[in-house]
Amino acid sequence: LGVDIVVRGECEEVVEQLARRDDWSAVPSTAYLRDARVVSNGGVHASSFVDHPPLEWPADWIAAHSHHHHRFDDNQVGFGAEVEASRGCPYNCSFCAKIDFRDAYRRRNHEAVVAEIDRLIAQGVGYIYFIDEIFLPQKALLEALVDRNVKFGVQTRIDLWKPELLELLGAAGCVSIEAGLESLTVEGRAMLAKRCRLGTEELAALLVDARRHVPFVQANLIGVVEDDPALVERWRTHLIDHGVWANEPVPLYPYPSSPSYRELWGEPDDLAWERAHDHYLASFQKFSDIQEKRPRPLAELEATCCGH
Ligand code: SF4
Repeated sequence: LGVDIVVRGECEEVVEQLARRDDWSAVPSTAYLRDARVVSNGGVHASSFVDHPPLEWPADWIAAHSHHHHRFDDNQVGFGAEVEASRGCPYNCSFCAKIDFRDAYRRRNHEAVVAEIDRLIAQGVGYIYFIDEIFLPQKALLEALVDRNVKFGVQTRIDLWKPELLELLGAAGCVSIEAGLESLTVEGRAMLAKRCRLGTEELAALLVDARRHVPFVQANLIGVVEDDPALVERWRTHLIDHGVWANEPVPLYPYPSSPSYRELWGEPDDLAWERAHDHYLASFQKFSDIQEKRPRPLAELEATCCGH
């Protein structure tokens, strides 16, 4: 790519070091090329995150961003923006690409998050997408959002919400929930190491309840051999009939930084992405009910760019 240096892991404190130092050769959690060989300084970095100050974005950057990410209801007013209220996730689902530095769950200082949101609203933002790996119920944040004129979307696990908190989530302005249900059977969820305490019936009831308060609720499903197709179809129909979007189960992609990859091939090497992608293409004929085309092999894509 022609870059001078690569940050390994979460970047904030490392970028701060790069900004302070003239000599980058010993900045921890970086890698660079010297005489065509990779020099790596230490492992991946996990940021402290909790004390990060409010971000400030230039007005012209905000104004260039009219898209509202993962939003499907009407009345889309104002610019779209992303905010990160927490980082990391304490779970270890087998398909999730977060090994090494996104494991520890860290919640950012409440005042900093609210100050960042207030500044965005003052700049004309009408919709925020929380890019948290897992947007856990945070009563103080939701209560702060109730009084603010902004809508938002989240990704979360529905099993961590109680009915009264789902009501508060809707009152706070949430218009889009993407909930990783993954499998519609206890066995399937166990196979994906989902560590979910609830049964399918309880999960479905929570999703339907969420839909009473939030205009778009999506239950993500992954194809698992343990799941009986007829049973999956019955639950999907039930959810769709109650206004919850549930996709046809999609194939599992063994991301190099996921437990699934390590189980299949061990530690990732330089060809990890190619290997994962080839495996994915070889294992499945159909990829998603909203995707007609077959993805191309990585080597084919790489051959078309960057002078390869
Ligand atoms: S899929 Fe969601 S709940 Fe599971 S480890 Fe990843 S972020 Fe956490």
